[in-house]
Amino acid sequence: MKTRWLFVFAHPDDESFAAGGTIAKLSRAGHDVILACATSGCKGRSGEFQFATREELARFREQELRNACSILGVAELVLYRYPDGELKSLDLSKLAHRIQSTIVERRPEIIITFPPDGVTGHPDHIAISRATERAVERAEAHYPERQKPLFYYTSIPHYYDHCPDSGPTQTCPITARADIRGFRHHKGRALQAYRSQIYSVNRAYPGVMDGDFTVIGDYEYYTLVRANGQLVPPNTAPAALDELPEMELG
Ligand SMILES: [Zn+2]
Repeated sequence: MKTRWLFVFAHPDDESFAAGGTIAKLSRAGHDVILACATSGCKGRSGEFQFATREELARFREQELRNACSILGVAELVLYRYPDGELKSLDLSKLAHRIQSTIVERRPEIIITFPPDGVTGHPDHIAISRATERAVERAEAHYPERQKPLFYYTSIPHYYDHCPDSGPTQTCPITARADIRGFRHHKGRALQAYRSQIYSVNRAYPGVMDGDFTVIGDYEYYTLVRANGQLVPPNTAPAALDELPEMELG
């Protein structure tokens, strides 16, 4: 059965790092994938490119995002165009309201965002996580009984494996994994679309920019947070990553 998935992230490239393989697999299986991106990344690095203004960088990164979306098969891209780096200074309920409108208009069956630690600890990632969670709670009232959306966090437990530094300790127990073995190539090509973010891509996925996708793992990871209009009790005895149940994406 065709289902509609909404991914909500802070910056162009978040979707490819966190869930690129999952998105590609979903779209190839005929599901409808919507991506909401809160900022256009105007404070990010620009790689080998020079931009006179932040607006130019933002437009360039939006184009990179569009290219990545077409590689992954995203059906609809929603751009909020909030200022990069400033999501945490926005009124949380305003940001949540914007996301809530996207949910209520499109009625996705599954909604996915960053975990509360933001994976990397980036304040924009943390803000988008909090705002999306609030938006889902409020949007549930607009769904019929027994048809409330599933809400997941996505995690990248291996994000710092190749980084020279170590990241924040992961705080959220992972409860499911998506097998992306047939979609490593799509994720790699989507990451390659971010030439301006070559530093970040090389840091977490060395080799990918040069066409070597072996560093991309077999799985992407998720935590089920809400179902049936209720919080799913946190997993007190987290399973080993290789023993997690597989998420149904077919
Ligand atoms: Zn980001």
